[in-house]
Amino acid sequence: MTPDVRDRIVRPTARVPAQQDRVSEATWGRVADLIGQAGEVALACHVSPDGDALGSMLAVAQVLRGQGKRVHASFGDRVFSVPRLLRFLPGLDLLEPPAAFPDEPELMLTFDSSTLDRLGLLAANAGKAREVVVFDHHPSNHGFGTVSVIDPTVAATAVLAEQLIYRLGGSLDRDIATCLYAGLVTDTGSFRHSSTTPAVHQMAARLVATGLRTDEIARELWDRSPFGYLKVLAAALERAALEDDLVWTYVTHVDRATYGLPYDEVEGIIDVVRRTDEAEVAVVLKEDDHGDWQVSTRSKGAVDVAAICSALGGGGHHNAAGYTSRLGVEETMAEFRALLRKA
Ligand code: 5GP
Ligand code: MN
Repeated sequence: MTPDVRDRIVRPTARVPAQQDRVSEATWGRVADLIGQAGEVALACHVSPDGDALGSMLAVAQVLRGQGKRVHASFGDRVFSVPRLLRFLPGLDLLEPPAAFPDEPELMLTFDSSTLDRLGLLAANAGKAREVVVFDHHPSNHGFGTVSVIDPTVAATAVLAEQLIYRLGGSLDRDIATCLYAGLVTDTGSFRHSSTTPAVHQMAARLVATGLRTDEIARELWDRSPFGYLKVLAAALERAALEDDLVWTYVTHVDRATYGLPYDEVEGIIDVVRRTDEAEVAVVLKEDDHGDWQVSTRSKGAVDVAAICSALGGGGHHNAAGYTSRLGVEETMAEFRALLRKA
């Protein structure tokens, strides 16, 4: 199909598909009631948002705005900036910095955040909110709000966001579908991970039918970067070390500063490192702008990296998890290796 033809089939999906999650009808009903009764809804996703966090939140925010709600949408990073690769998402105009977020929201919805901590600065607002509905798919999330819409069997929080939209009587247009699709492709690794079920492809079909541009979304998410990225990637790969079944490397703040590269540009380095055949586990340490190390870990299945990262104050999924370390590179790796050996 040529892009021209595809552009013309922009049509909202009217049909409500079967439920794809394990959230009870009572819970969905409670969520619909809470939102129906609220004049103002405050939406938040996790800090350093990825496609699933920001995409899910912006999709729902656009629907709520269309339904005449006063909507706030934000994430609690100390320096508020949308990651460059997500700046193509429709609905960015709805975003506001955490300082503009309601201090004591009447109703707060959180997206893709597995713990209260992951809300960063907005954790305080959640603590004071009257109702907090937690939308998430991380198995480690035991619910930190007043209502949990948590289902670890779904591939992305975007699956729950789509279901919420239908349950609010909303429908998909191309902009809303683009946000949901960004979540779905990000968290399934472009439909490669084991989470890619028939239901995932069925959801993708509904989204693509709105006329969204899968080619443009893929390019924005994965196939572009500033020239400096090549240099920083080269430095990281040069330092990569293979220790038995562990491959790891690190990216310093100085590496990035040399090429004026923002932190979020190096998030994808783990995807290069983890391809190493000889390694079961891959680790990339990324120094952020505050001098902390953001640790990305990946497993091929034999090791539960979420368990290791949870023990170190973070979390995630069995095969993809992370945490923050305030130690140096060597100390961080020593701590990680010790837990890996026990795993
Ligand atoms: P990434 O390595 O791509 O940043 O993250 C991989 C997975 O680990 C994601 O599902 C993400 O939500 C989770 N994750 C990453 N960093 C942290 C962290 O500091 N705390 C928690 N709880 N989860 C994290
Ligand atoms: Mn997610």
